[in-house]
Amino acid sequence: MIDYRLIAHRTRSGHSLAKTGGNVENVVVDAGFAAEAHIIPNLWDEEHAATLTPEDLLVYRSNLLGSDKRITNFGGGNTSSKLRATDPLTGESVETLWVKGSGGDLGSIRRDGFATLYLDRLKAIETRYRGPAEEDAIVDLYPHCAFNVNPRAASIDTPLHGLVHHAHIDHVHPDAIIAIAAAADGEAITRRIFSEQVGWLPWRRPGFELGVQLKRYAAENPQAVGVILASHGLFAWGETQRACYENTIATINRAAAWLAKSARGAPFGGERGAPFPASERRRLAARLAPRLRGLLSQESVKVGHFDDSDAVLAFVCSRSCAELAAEGTSCPDHFLRTKIRPLLFDQNPAALSDNALIDAIRSAVDAYRVDYRRYYEVCRRPDSPSMRDPSPVIILVPGVGMFAYGADKAGARIAAEFYMNAINVMRGATAVSGYRGLPAQEAFDIEYWRLEEAKLQRAPKPKPLTGRVALVTGGAGGIGQAAARRLLSEGANVVLCDIDAEALVRAQTDIAGAFGKDRVAAVPVDVVSEPSVHALFQEAALAFGGVDILVSNAGIASAAPIEETSLDLWRRNIDILATGYFLVAREAFRMMRQQGRGGSIVFVASKNALVASPNASAYCTAKAAEIQLARCLALEGAPHGIRANVVNPDAVLRGSRIWAGEWRAQRADAYKVAPDQLEEIYRERSLLKLNVYPDDVAEAVHFFASDLSAKSTGNILNVDAGHAAAFTR
Ligand code: NAD
Repeated sequence: MIDYRLIAHRTRSGHSLAKTGGNVENVVVDAGFAAEAHIIPNLWDEEHAATLTPEDLLVYRSNLLGSDKRITNFGGGNTSSKLRATDPLTGESVETLWVKGSGGDLGSIRRDGFATLYLDRLKAIETRYRGPAEEDAIVDLYPHCAFNVNPRAASIDTPLHGLVHHAHIDHVHPDAIIAIAAAADGEAITRRIFSEQVGWLPWRRPGFELGVQLKRYAAENPQAVGVILASHGLFAWGETQRACYENTIATINRAAAWLAKSARGAPFGGERGAPFPASERRRLAARLAPRLRGLLSQESVKVGHFDDSDAVLAFVCSRSCAELAAEGTSCPDHFLRTKIRPLLFDQNPAALSDNALIDAIRSAVDAYRVDYRRYYEVCRRPDSPSMRDPSPVIILVPGVGMFAYGADKAGARIAAEFYMNAINVMRGATAVSGYRGLPAQEAFDIEYWRLEEAKLQRAPKPKPLTGRVALVTGGAGGIGQAAARRLLSEGANVVLCDIDAEALVRAQTDIAGAFGKDRVAAVPVDVVSEPSVHALFQEAALAFGGVDILVSNAGIASAAPIEETSLDLWRRNIDILATGYFLVAREAFRMMRQQGRGGSIVFVASKNALVASPNASAYCTAKAAEIQLARCLALEGAPHGIRANVVNPDAVLRGSRIWAGEWRAQRADAYKVAPDQLEEIYRERSLLKLNVYPDDVAEAVHFFASDLSAKSTGNILNVDAGHAAAFTR
């Protein structure tokens, strides 16, 4: 993303001034663009490039372009090369088109991410092409052009690369270029900056017709190195891979430098009000997020993402925000992820009581959904696919920041990033001209395009817990980590929390390595401390928008005969195992109520909650309290769809940090065996003659967390390999 910002300092009353010290915080207020922030360096390494085959050079060039998000957004843009290859059928040398296939990202693309086509066949399609009315049908012909039975699907941008005669072509979506492409007098600006070197084509949906127009432009303008497509992005080309890359970079840099030089006035018409201070913003955002999430999840559950960066605040706190937000985003790549316009929640959440806040959010979301339905009804074609979820994806709250909601965390984060691109574009366009969104019908025709619908239909089916958020206490421990992994494997997002901050970071790193960074957040917590638990749930709301599943699991173990049980030891057990479970469950309960979509609370208690054990009175008593608390929660939660159930493990030695400490030595002592013989002792003691592992407990946690147990609450599941004394009745 291009960062057009200059940072200045502003008092809370919102006036711009130089830093005076004291009551001042860093926010964006200044006009103009910092050119150095968006000049893209030329990273071409000729020595390395000289070692690569033509195909690998295309991969290299694509990775260079895609790894800088100022050049193109995630998943956006495409690159191509026309390369000679030996036809596997005839053995003859033929010209082929390598072009980024459908899906994938330029930053990480490999050879197999490219579709390969016989160029002569692709060009031959033009001879039977009769005009825009049939361009969608042409897409069905691309598979007939596949070279070397390459299964990678050719994207709708394929003719834009194949019909233009230049050897190498880049199509990218840089904010600096789109700012010009979406400016009211973008064509004149393009001419002013680039003269005849970079052309201008009016808005047209990507497809065969645009390919034909580009081909004509390139043929008639041999001096040109590229074209700006109105409301869309850049095409640049070259006769070598390096020349193509350098033309792309140089074109972006010239546009960025011109914008920096020509910007006038305060961004977005100046500020309308100051943002709340950072800690207050986060508090308000955490108050809004679960309520928003509940309302936006009416059709399918959503995960949230929050952004209160300076660039976002500069937009949402500006005078032009309402007008520009209503104008809608321009680049199709942007609005396919963000919807054509965001919801602007233009109220001060700090001034509203909880009830007034939920009413205000509900009526804003309802109004958005009504508007979206109207847009669908007005713009629909006879063969349009059915209307999709009419809820907003992006929610702007002046003074607070931007929320994004998606089917999963990556989707929400990427939608927020795309809206950030749109903000940059609007900032650039309004600084030098006026900003133009795409007309509603054009936007609709892209959004409900048959080919976009087909892409959505091809997407893999979500897993059962996709979109759900689980919070696991004691997440750095053996059972906590296993439970987190089990829930993640079913698609959930997880907030891991633990008092041991170092172990927590290790656990997060391991788990994120397996399931991706987006889906695991880590928050240090002491479950005994009320403020710490509050802060934990605030972080969960900011990370994912709320919580659907609580796995209360943080724990300790201790042993002492009753006469030697000190008050401290007693209190420690009661604090962590009873009060700690109460504090996190109460907070989870509140958040689930704010979301209004039920939830599942799972307590990891212990066989000792049911069966007294000698020399462990404090532990056994506290664990028994957990069970009774879970039953109370089940009772109070049922009217709200909140279930509460208990899993009772027994003797889970492997992976458990409890068993790594003195507890193991004490137990071994009690059984008069060596510590490494304990597993065998417990196995033999069980009815099934089996050991219990963290994964076994995790399976039971998953059962209660998921809809598999949708009709169970107030229940207990022992995972203890069988103990008659623990049979429930
Ligand atoms: P573990 O020690 O591996 O994990 C427990 C985690 O809780 C640790 O990472 C610890 O740092 C954390 N924790 C402790 N106090 C905390 C606090 N105040 N705030 C936040 N985090 C805190 O142990 P485990 O075996 O995975 O045990 C998990 C749960 O299962 C515990 O409640 C335990 O009582 C229960 N349990 C375990 C067994 C067993 O044999 N392992 C048997 C019955 C019940």
